[in-house]
Amino acid sequence: MRLRALVILSLVSAFVAVGIGCEAVEEEASRIETERLSAIVRELASDKYEGRAPGTPGGRRTVEYLIEEFDELGLEPGGVEGGWTHEVPLIHTQIEAPAVMQFVVGGEAQPLEQKLDIEASTVRAVDSIAINAPVIFVGFGAYAPERDWDDYGEINLEGKVALYLVNDPDFAAKPDEPAAGRFGNRRMTYYGRWAYKFEEAARRGAAAALVIHETEAAGYGWNVASSSPGENYAVVSADATTPPVMLQGWLHEDAATALMRSAGYDLDELRIQARNPDFEAFELDGVSFASDLSVSVDHFESSNVLALLPGEAHPDELLMVAAHWDAYGVGEPDEQGRTVRPGANDDALGIAGVLEIARVLKAGPPLERSVVFAAWTAEESGLLGSAAYARDPIYPLEKTVANLSLDILNTAGPARDVILVGEGQSELEDDLARAAAAQGRTVTPESLPENGLFYRADHFPMARGGVPVLLIMQIAGGADLVDGGRQAGDQWIEDYIGNCYHQTCDAWDPDWDLRGAAQDIELFRTIIEDLGNSRRWPQWKSGSEFKAIREQSAGVRQ
Ligand SMILES: [Zn+2]
Repeated sequence: MRLRALVILSLVSAFVAVGIGCEAVEEEASRIETERLSAIVRELASDKYEGRAPGTPGGRRTVEYLIEEFDELGLEPGGVEGGWTHEVPLIHTQIEAPAVMQFVVGGEAQPLEQKLDIEASTVRAVDSIAINAPVIFVGFGAYAPERDWDDYGEINLEGKVALYLVNDPDFAAKPDEPAAGRFGNRRMTYYGRWAYKFEEAARRGAAAALVIHETEAAGYGWNVASSSPGENYAVVSADATTPPVMLQGWLHEDAATALMRSAGYDLDELRIQARNPDFEAFELDGVSFASDLSVSVDHFESSNVLALLPGEAHPDELLMVAAHWDAYGVGEPDEQGRTVRPGANDDALGIAGVLEIARVLKAGPPLERSVVFAAWTAEESGLLGSAAYARDPIYPLEKTVANLSLDILNTAGPARDVILVGEGQSELEDDLARAAAAQGRTVTPESLPENGLFYRADHFPMARGGVPVLLIMQIAGGADLVDGGRQAGDQWIEDYIGNCYHQTCDAWDPDWDLRGAAQDIELFRTIIEDLGNSRRWPQWKSGSEFKAIREQSAGVRQ
């Protein structure tokens, strides 16, 4: 059944049942409806969409569905040249077996086995990767002038292999060490993410960048780091001023320890040195890395879908609300023989939230500022749809007031609090607190900030472009559920992560209690309405790694 018909029917039945008039219609239009959220998820998580993998028929059907829904809601096309979409040219790369890689220490080869010792891949559209270069140990590899920290000094990485420690310099620092507190303590900063390290290596012209894996500091085990050996996805970029490194990946901690020992270094000692602000990158004496690899590359296209609700007074000032439409497609059969990984919560429910906010805002009085509704592709392949947009935005990032993203919501009923991801980053957390207070709820910071979820969803490419962001991601911490409290909230996360996350089990469930999700979506709607009728530009807080880039464009926001 089409959604429009569903709503009319439920409205009609509401009239018949309780015999109320126009106020009921307005009430209905101004609320996030759990039934609608459920119906949208049921549709998108059905087999018709085959797990919504980009570049597949199911992915294309998803794009068609989203366009139809936005169109029916009466929104304007918000994509490129008056259309609904923003095309994202993508590549899928696979380093072929056998993948020949080795360290050479003092003339002696130490072969590296893909998946066992190393997980190396490429985001370059190349046929082969031949590297034979010295290895530079760059410590944590942070270049953070705002923290008065530079691990690189005078070193030249051009054509070389950069070897990184995972996380940032104060993750493991003791309170009396000089690094303590310089990078948010246990909270991971962007400098701790592999994505940053690969980008910094590319900016400095390195041929390859490898991060030494450690389970606690990475936030996940080697099994996750090496789950798709040699495989990667990337956006094809027309702008090749800073091409990515040729080879990137993880080095197993045991392989790194063995390498250092054979070259006369002690990895534990190097970790301590790298936590010192005086540390500077250096070339490992007598050590080189060599690879001789064949790469297969597939090109394919996918699309972000964008819809616009133009503002009445300041249409060039935009609020963005977003979720990702893609999921994990079809995989190995589970015990029940299911092969589709339907991504019902991750992130069809987020998409349903975006559509519901669109419906309610469109039905309400016009806002002064514009709202753009974005459904991103290829999030699961590395935040690629949103990254492609941030690189080549349709609406200038300088005039994008905020990006509000939904990615995995609570399906266990109403909650007394909402979980904040990335505490201390921007003034939007104060907006969130006000909106929550109006619902009689509070804000609780995420319970595992060291996992760096703030850097692992589609809001992040916007943040990197300077746009203040808010993310609701229920796996960041257990909510204080009305039914069962924090313990029940934590249990919900354990069940979801343990059984369903990225698996066939992330399916639509008629027993979901979506009242908590509706509460959270309503928070975003309130914030958009509030900012949409003001001239306020929420700022990054001091200490945020994104404050500097936003301030560069302060002049256009007078
Ligand atoms: Zn997701």
